[in-house]
Amino acid sequence: MNILTDLLPKSEPAPGPRIQKGRRGIEIKSKREIEIMRQASAIVATVLKEIMALTEPGMTTADLDAHAEKRIREMGAVPSFKGYHGFPASICASINHEVVHGIPSRKRVIQEGDLLKVDTGAYFNGFHGDSCVTIRVGQVPEVADRLATVAEEALFAGIRQVRAGARLLDIAGAIEDVVKKNRFAVVEDFTGHGVGRNLHEEPAVFNFRTREMPNVQLRAGMTLAIEPILNQGSKKTKILRDRWTAVTVDRGLSAQWEHTVLVTEEGYEILTDRTKV
Ligand code: MG
Ligand code: MG
Repeated sequence: MNILTDLLPKSEPAPGPRIQKGRRGIEIKSKREIEIMRQASAIVATVLKEIMALTEPGMTTADLDAHAEKRIREMGAVPSFKGYHGFPASICASINHEVVHGIPSRKRVIQEGDLLKVDTGAYFNGFHGDSCVTIRVGQVPEVADRLATVAEEALFAGIRQVRAGARLLDIAGAIEDVVKKNRFAVVEDFTGHGVGRNLHEEPAVFNFRTREMPNVQLRAGMTLAIEPILNQGSKKTKILRDRWTAVTVDRGLSAQWEHTVLVTEEGYEILTDRTKV
């Protein structure tokens, strides 16, 4: 018995049923594991493609969550997020100045002009896929449209750096350059991550130049969730009292795109590619 653990408050939720403990470090996936990652990621891509098509003003974020959970389960997977460290839903739905980890709600009605980020994950045969999109709801303000476009460009600039032998700073630098050129800000409070048996694995895939994090050299068989977050104004964020939703401190807009990407000898394969589902 660990006395210290027993003394900790009981309010902290269990980490969730889909966490595989005792795994540390960067995992190189085998051919078989990569094939399962492709399947898990294709489920995520399918769900996000559907949500992008069906989102309309007047729907609630809980409607989108219900659709995602239903479809993930229909395709034989389990929502990665639901129950993860106590998160109550299958998607994160973050609107306008909400940055990440927004909790879907029946009270949250999607409005014309909203910039809506939908992030979801699927756990299939022991592996996770993870992806996020930014949805322009109807006609959005020009700056919102530009922020969403630049955020997607930044993601692909990062992805194009991926190949065996490259380093995480190559990805981060490419992302940062696109963002700076367009005079937006990269959020530094959240990073991408390795993904596989666990939703969040090493290494941290940072989106900005830094010496504070390991500048890992990429190897074929690594699977990374690359997910830059761009803010219109200040890069600073804070967490709301719901303990999940991160918002911009200046209430400026935020946009994010994410793909699960396989490192190959020659380059990369986007496992959550929505054009292939
Ligand atoms: Mg995600
Ligand atoms: Mg992620």
